[in-house]
Amino acid sequence: MKLEGIHHITAITADAQRNVDFYTGVLGLRLVKKTVNQDSPTVYHLFFADEEGDPGADLTFFEYPGAAPGRAGAGMVHRIVWRVASPEALDFWDGRLGALGIESRREGEGLRFADPEGLDHELLAADVPDAPLIADHPEIPPELALQGFHAVRAYAAAPAASAALLEALEFEPTESGWEARGPERGGLYIYDPPPAERGIQGAGSVHHVAWASIPDEHMAWRDRAIAAGARPTPEIDRFYFKSVYFREPSGVLFEVATIGPGFTVDEPLEHLGEKLSLPPAFEHLREEVETNLRPVVNPRAAQR
Ligand code: ZN
Repeated sequence: MKLEGIHHITAITADAQRNVDFYTGVLGLRLVKKTVNQDSPTVYHLFFADEEGDPGADLTFFEYPGAAPGRAGAGMVHRIVWRVASPEALDFWDGRLGALGIESRREGEGLRFADPEGLDHELLAADVPDAPLIADHPEIPPELALQGFHAVRAYAAAPAASAALLEALEFEPTESGWEARGPERGGLYIYDPPPAERGIQGAGSVHHVAWASIPDEHMAWRDRAIAAGARPTPEIDRFYFKSVYFREPSGVLFEVATIGPGFTVDEPLEHLGEKLSLPPAFEHLREEVETNLRPVVNPRAAQR
């Protein structure tokens, strides 16, 4: 039993449209689902991913309009690391970001930059066998596009406290960090020493990271987490996948989410993310929900 790397990463934005413009327009991801936070249906939940909306390339945001800026601190993910195919891709992104007025810098093997709210990203030409997860974008050749997640980096003061839980979840310690690698995909979980200032959950901060489970093994992972001392939620049906949540000992909120059924359960692949999707349990609230949300334009819907 192995987790198949990162399923999705969820962060917070204060401005859904600006967020959509950055992640689709600049980074070239596809907005594959526009829905609401199931725990708070008055706010958007936006999902960006590759063309097919696969786990492994799925970055999601809750929109809290006007939320104060956050700041990553101990117990929080502070950087998202994406794979690209080659050093040439790093050159391309360095140029593209610069041309769009976004500061980036080479650091070690990677290219670092932040989104408009300060969420830290890194692109890395990683040598892994995993299938690239790519979205179509007219200005970004597929061989240079983002290929899905490679890692998340989190701040922890005493990361050894997390070792037993990570081992129970079949993460393996590697030279670059803890690796969750299944037969199809893998992803890394890397700790860095925290800054002195306390973290603040707000705009531009990561809320949680979800690890990918084969559906049949989902409850077994929950049992493993309990056996290692974590206190997971019951299994929650998120409609596009099933989830359990627990905090790992270093303070980061983990989710284990099933691979599938996926984003095509309520929309055809060609039209993902073009209209507001509400899971069946929320459909009766549609009128109320839509009145309360500022319209967000998916650039693909706008082109049609
Ligand atoms: Zn999640």
